[in-house]
Amino acid sequence: MSNSFSTRLLLWFDQHGRHDLPWQLNITPYRVWVSEVMLQQTQTATAAPYFATFIDVFPSIDRLASASIDVVLHTWTGLGYYARARNLHKAANLLMSKYNGELPMSVSELEALPGIGPSTAGAIVAICTNRRATILDGNVKRVLARCFAIKGWPGSKTTAKALWRKAEQLTPDARVRDYTQAIMDLGATLCTRSSPDCANCPFRAECIAYRTSRCDQFPARKPKQVKPVRTTTMLMIENPQGELLLQQRLSTGLWGGLWSFPEGDAVDDTLLQFDIDSTCVESQARRDKFRHSFTHFHLEITPIHVKLTETPATIGEKPIVWYSPSEPAEIGLTGPVTRLLKEL
Ligand code: SF4
Repeated sequence: MSNSFSTRLLLWFDQHGRHDLPWQLNITPYRVWVSEVMLQQTQTATAAPYFATFIDVFPSIDRLASASIDVVLHTWTGLGYYARARNLHKAANLLMSKYNGELPMSVSELEALPGIGPSTAGAIVAICTNRRATILDGNVKRVLARCFAIKGWPGSKTTAKALWRKAEQLTPDARVRDYTQAIMDLGATLCTRSSPDCANCPFRAECIAYRTSRCDQFPARKPKQVKPVRTTTMLMIENPQGELLLQQRLSTGLWGGLWSFPEGDAVDDTLLQFDIDSTCVESQARRDKFRHSFTHFHLEITPIHVKLTETPATIGEKPIVWYSPSEPAEIGLTGPVTRLLKEL
């Protein structure tokens, strides 16, 4: 069905596709780039309000480049996968120094920028220029795996290769912008992960997974791996003004550049790292532990709420802030900090 695939998809898109997503209005390379990065790991409905805020705070590449990383991470807080925000900021600076503040419109140059993979690069070129370029995001992988019964987990090299080959074959020469949006829409609205609406799908007559009642088998799931569990203790150190001590994490590694509670197994030792004498402790209370999951492991967190009788005059060399929940500073917070602050 290669020949008719794009024609049929575009006919469906003209009637049923999404035409008024925030990033489809007033299309500019910058807006498309930001939206595609947000959509890498976030669904449309969740991304839309963040997109509006992000564009409001950073209306252009140069405004993003000149902003502090703290403000960028603060604007991203709640969206997760913070490497995306750090990469947007890094790439904006590279664009200012190498490309005169413009996004290059070639897949290979875009792919060389931080945080832009082949699919995101293809989407940016196709949507901005209407030139032939291929995308293969999660939605597209699902549609193609089902329609053509492509076996295997899309994260494996062989399956990824087969999917790319198919995606490239099917990409038309004309109306590439619409085709790109259309195939993402079909995956997001009809060919959904758990309950595809095959009755309304333009491919129901040919789709192999549907014809053979195997929609639930494509794409194959990731082989199961038992994630290791790591543990940590977080100290919620509160001064008499109700402010909490947050420490900035190193810019590389887990939660790079974000602000979090100090961690350490022994309360007194951790306090000492911040020059806080244990005689200043008014009370300490262990709170319920909880899990925060990452791609490769679970982190089991035990929070300990430590109240101080006075705010220490000095706090050592570490980058810290006394964070007031009622007047929050513009800094990026880790997920567990946001959760614990809400609970307080
Ligand atoms: S027929 Fe069903 S499984 Fe096949 S592409 Fe359409 S929605 Fe997906």
